[in-house]
Amino acid sequence: MQPSGRRLLLVHAHPDDETITTGGTIARYLAEGAEVTVVTCTLGEEGEVMEPRFAQLTAENADQLGGYRIGELTGALAALSDPAGPVLRPRFLGGMGRWRDSGMAGTPAADHPRAFASAPRTQADGGPLQALTRIIRDVRPQVVITYDEVGGYGHPDHIAAHLLTHAAVDAAADPEVAGEPWEVAKLYWTVTSRGDLESTLAALRGAELPGDWRVPAPEELPAHDDAAITSRIDVAPVLDRKRAALRAHATQLGVSADGAALALTNRIAQPVFAEEAYVLARGAAAPGPDGLERDLFAGVA
Ligand SMILES: [Zn+2]
Repeated sequence: MQPSGRRLLLVHAHPDDETITTGGTIARYLAEGAEVTVVTCTLGEEGEVMEPRFAQLTAENADQLGGYRIGELTGALAALSDPAGPVLRPRFLGGMGRWRDSGMAGTPAADHPRAFASAPRTQADGGPLQALTRIIRDVRPQVVITYDEVGGYGHPDHIAAHLLTHAAVDAAADPEVAGEPWEVAKLYWTVTSRGDLESTLAALRGAELPGDWRVPAPEELPAHDDAAITSRIDVAPVLDRKRAALRAHATQLGVSADGAALALTNRIAQPVFAEEAYVLARGAAAPGPDGLERDLFAGVA
């Protein structure tokens, strides 16, 4: 495989977010020879678990879930990798275990001294902003992906990852910040298209799903109006890789037998989309004839 010179960097809050939201995009750009870097901000220590066999790993029991999820993330990124290319390895913000999952809003996990969402951005020994700025300047990505302002669905760590990524893209380009500046050409938010959600949930109603799963009404899941979506990435050719990566996150989710849906511990079915949708937050859009970008690197020199 020829390296394409394209460099894509994704900033995610917990192991599994990279696959659920952007797994197809990661697999597609790896298959096309791009250099892909997935930065994960926490180990996901506060996650709930999908099956009783994992129950003793959780934060209130052995507190081993975070370490276990390093293995799951490693497996997922390997599954997304092209067999002809290098195996994508995890990269944790500040190193493995530096910042901790802050838990859902209003839980005591937010008060942990290492909680990611409340970590001072700049710290004498290197805060999240310094760590991510260094990674951006080291990787020199033309394209960066993170979440929207509400972090997709409101998790404090997702909102923190959104704010941090915007700040680090600014800091990386700032000549006043010590080091060699790097200007990211395009910054995207990973989002769900409301139109896709409605049509795929309708299809799931007739599908065979595990008995304890529930197909939600579309308004129960966060989505963006299609008019706001700037970019759509066709991931149909790599969906099998995305499904294998989803299955690697077994503590967190299940995948239906036909691979059309996944569910987290709430057992609410979510479609596995054949196109991943994005909103261009910064940079110049280069849409095609249908008004949409079909390549996140469109227009990048
Ligand atoms: Zn998450």
